[in-house]
Parts: sequence; C-alpha cells; structure tokens
Amino acid sequence: MSRLEADLIVRNAADLCTMAGTGADAAARLGRLRGGAVACREGRVVWTGPDAELEANVEPLAGAARIDATGCTVTPGLVDCHTHVVFAGDRADEFALRCAGATYLEIARRGGGIRATVRATREASEDTLVELALPRLARMLAHGVTTAEAKSGYGLSVADELKMLRAVGRLPSLQPIELVATLLCAHAIPPEYAESREAYVELCVREIVPEVARAGLARFCDAFVEKGAFTVDEGRAILGRAKELGMKARLHADQMSAMGAVELAAELGAASADHLEYLTDAGLAALAAAGVSAVLLPVSTLFLKQEPYAPGRRLWDAGLNVGLATNLNPGSATSENASLALGLACLFNGLTPSEALFAFTKGAARALLIDDRVGSLAPGMQADLVVHACESHEHLAYHLAVSHVRTVVKKGKVVLEAPVERCRAG
Ligand SMILES: [Zn+2]
Repeated sequence: MSRLEADLIVRNAADLCTMAGTGADAAARLGRLRGGAVACREGRVVWTGPDAELEANVEPLAGAARIDATGCTVTPGLVDCHTHVVFAGDRADEFALRCAGATYLEIARRGGGIRATVRATREASEDTLVELALPRLARMLAHGVTTAEAKSGYGLSVADELKMLRAVGRLPSLQPIELVATLLCAHAIPPEYAESREAYVELCVREIVPEVARAGLARFCDAFVEKGAFTVDEGRAILGRAKELGMKARLHADQMSAMGAVELAAELGAASADHLEYLTDAGLAALAAAGVSAVLLPVSTLFLKQEPYAPGRRLWDAGLNVGLATNLNPGSATSENASLALGLACLFNGLTPSEALFAFTKGAARALLIDDRVGSLAPGMQADLVVHACESHEHLAYHLAVSHVRTVVKKGKVVLEAPVERCRAG
C-alpha cells in the first residue's frame, strides 16, 4: 500500500484527543490516543494514529513541517460557538458601579447596560470595529480558538447591523480565526423604539433580516427571547422570516426565566439554544426531540453572579449535543478565556474535563453546523489543531483559566507559537 503524503506532521503527543470517536460516553468520543501522531496535507488531516505506526503509513514531503509534541496534549482547534466579539466602547465603569453595589436599574438609569454598547457601536466606523476586534481575536487564539461565531446586535438599525456584519466578514482575512456570522437584530429594543416596539420588530422583519440575507452576510439569525428583551411571538416573527430567507435560527434561551424560548427553538428547528440556566424538564425534552444543540455559557453566569448554572450534566445525560462557549461580550462575560469556560463547565455545569473539551470542540462545531469540517481530527477534516503544554487534556480545565497553548495550527499552517516559558505550565 502506498503511503500518504504529508506536508505537516505532529508526532508523539502524550495525549492526542481526536474527538473522532463514537459512543455515548466522553471517553469513547474523545478518540484518545496515548503517543499519537497527526499527518496533514494542504490544510487537511490525512491520517491520525499511534506514533509507532506513522512511518508505515505516512511519507513526509520534502520540506514538511514537523512538530514534536512530546509531553504535550494535542486537540482540534477550539471552537467558540457563541461570541459578541465585535463591539465598540467598554463598560468597565459599569462593572465598578456593580461591584460597589449599584443595581441593574441604577446602572440603566445612568445610561449603562446594552444601550451604552449600542451607542458606542453606532458611533464607530466599520474600520474601527475591525480594529477593536483584532486584539480580542488574538487573545482568543492564545487560548487555542481557531474558529468562532460572531454576532451583530449592537447596531439595531439597518445600517449599523450591516456595518457590524461587514466588519465580521473582513476579520478572517486579517488574522487566523475563521468566523461564522450571526445576525442578532433581536438583541434589544433600541432606545428610539422604546415606545413602539412593534415598529422595531417590523423593521427587523421587513428590512434588517431581508437586507442581511440579500447581502449574504450571516449564516444564522439569533434572538434574545426573555423578559425585558423579546417575546416568543416577536422572536418567532423575526427568526421565522430569517428562516424563509435561508438563515437558520439560534436563540438566547431561558437565561433568566423559562418563558418559552426553548420551545420556540424546538419549533423552528434551531441550530442551538444557548444559556439555558432556567431550563425546565419539559424544555429539555423539547430540545432533545427536535435535535437542537444546547450551548452552555458559564462565564456569564459567573460574571453576573446569577445562579443557577445551566444543567450541563442533565443535558449531556439526555443525549443532547452540548456546546460550550465564552459568550465574550462587554456586559455579561468580558473574557476571551476559553480555559475559564472549560473550568467553569466542570465546576458548575457538571461536566467532566473530557466532556467540557468535547463541548468546546466537536460539540461547538456541531452547534454551528460545521462539524463536517472542524472540531475533530480525522482524515478529510480541516487541519486546525492545538498543541498544549500539558501531559493530559484534563489539565485544560483543571489548571483554572490558564492557557497551556504552545502551538496553534490553522488550515495546516502554524499561526501561533507561545513563548517557551509557558511550555512548563502543565
Ligand atoms: Zn450572547
């Protein structure tokens, strides 16, 4: 049998987690190999297996890149499947007020909250939004993220939502992280429509959603269905229109109350329902029956000091596809730290370190409907992988909020090499 040609080879990983296994429990799904190797060619994986079998199966091309992963863990590139990475302004002042005891209402009265970010984002140019997002993406990459979702939702007008999504569209050519765009015009009722919310829903249905669809700027449409945000009927109108125009639904659901958002996700055949802190048994059953992915966002539960955490354990045990993400945003989860999300998912959502890692790779990729391309390491998959300087993948959640990233590979190219001192982090 002829050997497979490779232009990138990763050898001798202490713990290779391919995420390409099958079965109900995490150990099987992880596809774990002690002493594993990965071979890639032209940006795709061509072979994975025990290091001892590499030479019999793979022929390195002249000049092939070689990565020695001795003592290290190798995983697929992480997939951050829920972020608001594009925005202007910050809310550090609001955070300080909150820490000093101010209530949400007091902060809102001072012009804080999501409206502050909407104001700053509307004032910013598209170029400024791009520039502001770049360092955030660099910090995400430093945690091993190679693919991320990016939502609009701070423009809340035709022009400003389009501006945000055009910024999302430009970012992949400027840095290594690949982005999946989501329209989130149903994030909040903008201030100028405070007295006429029906008119804003009309604007979404008649103009924002169709304009974004026409420009091909978003794969998904999301809605924040919650008290103080959008009702189930409003969410249905906006997401239903988006669905007609080819954008699949995702929802911010059951974050503060169970008021029908997950049932709407099930009804619409949404790709994912995210947050789920207040998920009921009936809601869980509805998601399971409809095959909707469940996405955990424990960083915001922590940041808002708003327990309960979402029932990750019950979701996993019920057989749902579980994703895990940072929810990076300036108000309720100001952190690009994937490692923190992994740790919190274990400490508070009830996942094991293996399950949390699966949820931040293959599970997240499936929540974004891109698991045919990223989120696992198997022949034909994109060569997105991370070498972590620790001997087993459990360290990624256990060593809380600390990145072990040594090398990041995107589409077969090394895009980040961390300073050597970090390589002792394990
Ligand atoms: Zn969000």
